[in-house]
Amino acid sequence: SAKLPVMMEEKKKTFDANEAALLVKELNESFRTGKTKSYEWRVSQLKSIEKMVVEREKDICEALYKDLSKPEFEAFVSEIAMVKSSCKEALKELKHWMKPEKAKTSMETYPSSAEIVSEPLGAVLVISTWNYPFSLSVKPVIGAITAGNATVLKPSEIAPATSSLLSKLFEEYLDRSAVRVVEGDVPQTTALLEQKWDKIFYTGSPRVGRIIMTAAAKHLTPVVLELGGKCPAVIDSDVDLQVTARRIVAGKWQANNGQACISVDYIITTKDFAPKLIDALRKGIEECFGTDPMESKDISRIVSSNHFSRLQSLMDEYKVYNKIVVGGQRNQKELKIAPTIFLDVPGDSQLMQEEIFGPLLPIITVENVKDSIDLINSKPKPLAAYLFTNNDKLKNYFVQSVSSGGMAINDTVLHVTVSSLPFGGVGESGMGSYHGKFSFDAFSHKKAVLYRSFSGDSSVRYPPYTPEKQKL
Ligand code: NAD
Repeated sequence: SAKLPVMMEEKKKTFDANEAALLVKELNESFRTGKTKSYEWRVSQLKSIEKMVVEREKDICEALYKDLSKPEFEAFVSEIAMVKSSCKEALKELKHWMKPEKAKTSMETYPSSAEIVSEPLGAVLVISTWNYPFSLSVKPVIGAITAGNATVLKPSEIAPATSSLLSKLFEEYLDRSAVRVVEGDVPQTTALLEQKWDKIFYTGSPRVGRIIMTAAAKHLTPVVLELGGKCPAVIDSDVDLQVTARRIVAGKWQANNGQACISVDYIITTKDFAPKLIDALRKGIEECFGTDPMESKDISRIVSSNHFSRLQSLMDEYKVYNKIVVGGQRNQKELKIAPTIFLDVPGDSQLMQEEIFGPLLPIITVENVKDSIDLINSKPKPLAAYLFTNNDKLKNYFVQSVSSGGMAINDTVLHVTVSSLPFGGVGESGMGSYHGKFSFDAFSHKKAVLYRSFSGDSSVRYPPYTPEKQKL
């Protein structure tokens, strides 16, 4: 009804620590009935998510368009299809994932058997972000459900249309006694964070990641932190230039106009090769977004005026003022910024100091491609690192010497789609991982169980420690 959004708005405003405490109590009570532990319950919820995504695809795309003017095709590929395939995989593999895993035993326990039992943790909290506001909310929830937990999702207030749609859809499709959405921003999240959770799964900035971890520490709650950072792409001069340029365009501007945690943040290449690379990137941008990318329907806008202002000040810093070699156009009213490339900005410029999270792409040049590794390693560990080369020795050296959450060699971003690879950060880019079986593991406790029988009991292990026993 027309009143519903107003009521939801009201509910959001009044949500405080008391309500949060009641909610956690309710979820813990549901959890203790044991229903979320059953295979049948997990399957029923996963099937409901699948149904929700199929039946409400149009609503989801519309919300994503409102929040980010996300092109429908991009919304489908990076949000809807990602959620569908996670559900499909979880439904196919769940029985297998839930099965206790046999473990080897030791001489000391002979005769015995042992196994690792995956058990749910209890009531878990998922706090998500705005850039892929649907998939980065629902995918962790899928993990929490597959592992048999009761779950609260707190979507991002910066993508309000998707946040309110998620709240509506979860009420409609999922078991509200064990899966809930709480909308809101800092006060509501703080109220949630004051409660004792059995796990907190957070996606967002390293700054807020610290707040989450501090709150979690009070209750000894374990956390998964999916954070960000400056993801470098190193380009060697022996590459297929056209393919490389296209894949960088895809990994930067097709990825939510650079507002993606694993989009290319900056490029490192050699001085000699930079002009060729810039030409190829210019061509690649034109092929994808036309001669005037500001008019393109195939690129997302900047999420909010705050984010626009931040990007604008990165562009306008005097240190990078004359370094634009491609793009530079912007429209504050429409929150649009064109794909923009900078050449040789100083290392101490803001552009090279903070995560860009937008359509600006600095290119740093070095004498030798190997020098790029020192530059990367002088910064906090990124969530992803990319290398384009035909040189196997360099590939090997890069994989061995660069520490990052994940990597793709000769491509960008695509490693996120491989569910047999863990997705997560290291150091400043986060801790813990998810996707596929890793999501199930992230929300499970691995319980060690040893089975013994009463037979074969030897007195050797028991006191008194006679000289005979000590000789053994
Ligand atoms: P953010 O940290 O500002 O917000 C994320 C969530 O935290 C939101 O739900 C928000 O309501 C909540 N929040 C904000 N301030 C809070 C506070 N003071 N106390 C409690 N909760 C608070 O992050 P963002 O701007 O939404 O996202 C950008 C960052 O997220 C980038 O660094 C990006 O790289 C990272 N990111 C990481 C991944 C990943 O999978 N690793 C994915 C997307 C984005």
